[in-house]
Amino acid sequence: MIVVMEPKADEAKIQAVIARLQELGLGVHLSRGVERTIIGAIGEKKDNAIEILEAMDGVEKVVPILAPFKLAGRELQETPSVVEVDGVRFGDREVVLIAGPCAVEGEAQLFETAELVKAAGGSMLRGGAFKPRTSPYAFQGLGREGLKLLAEARRRTGLPVVSEVLDPKDVELVAEYVDMLQIGARNMQNFSLLREVGKTRRPVLLKRGISATVEEWLLAAEYVLREGNRAVVLCERGIRTYEPATRNTLDLSAIPLVKHLSHLPVIVDPSHAAGKWRLVPALAKAAVAAGADGLMIEVHPHPDHALSDGPQSLNPANFRRLVEELRPLAQAVGRALA
Ligand code: PEP
Ligand code: MN
Repeated sequence: MIVVMEPKADEAKIQAVIARLQELGLGVHLSRGVERTIIGAIGEKKDNAIEILEAMDGVEKVVPILAPFKLAGRELQETPSVVEVDGVRFGDREVVLIAGPCAVEGEAQLFETAELVKAAGGSMLRGGAFKPRTSPYAFQGLGREGLKLLAEARRRTGLPVVSEVLDPKDVELVAEYVDMLQIGARNMQNFSLLREVGKTRRPVLLKRGISATVEEWLLAAEYVLREGNRAVVLCERGIRTYEPATRNTLDLSAIPLVKHLSHLPVIVDPSHAAGKWRLVPALAKAAVAAGADGLMIEVHPHPDHALSDGPQSLNPANFRRLVEELRPLAQAVGRALA
């Protein structure tokens, strides 16, 4: 429910409503506008809650929140959220470019890629230390060693880093080394992991599940928001369809749809969507044209030697060319590359 206070309602009246909501067992989300204060009540609504609240002093009206995602939706917060990661702003005018290898493989590979990303104009570095591989026999990542290398790459380049956390018990460890916690597609509905990252104050990059609907994706974001972590960025990375010619099918329509339904920033990962490096530039451009707030792109100094996702990784020359092609495109849609 949304409790809309009268413009002249003073602090005592606002606090009385908050206390009453708490008595009713509801969570409170306060938003103070210039004109009036709006109080969001989150949780199971009691039958007569609307009548009780409407009878209170200073309350203008009580409106139910229709969407199942209360905190992620636009009903409670109309204005888009800007999520800041160490100076990099998601959801603002600038399109944020995150790039880096699928997996951190070692010092030389990571530092070379980090320098390349920085020189080309990227704003953040990605790299997996804990890898969610389909086969248990495939390279699983360097773990803590990989996190240390990411922290060193940040020290060298100044680029904030994002890396995936796979297990609730590793959240604290990953949060210690990286600036943004990634929840991968395979874990989008790992609710204990979502709650755990929600308890941290590290921004979260929440990828869309391989077969998740937009509503399920926003409800996954709701788990993080509900724990008090309001810094959530969504990432469309392709969904599984009947088409095997690409690794996944990039759902471009999800970008304007999610922006309509939610105030959270949305970025696109064309690399995991396509699975083929040749398709990545076109999809990246399409994503920016469709209103994406950023891109996450896999790049490797030697894709043919990559320990994971080489076939979808851009080589340095192709990555630099893509960044240059994105600049005028971003401008054409009223944005700029960060
Ligand atoms: C990744 O970005 O490293 C990754 C594994 O992607 P996804 O979770 O989207 O498959
Ligand atoms: Mn990958």
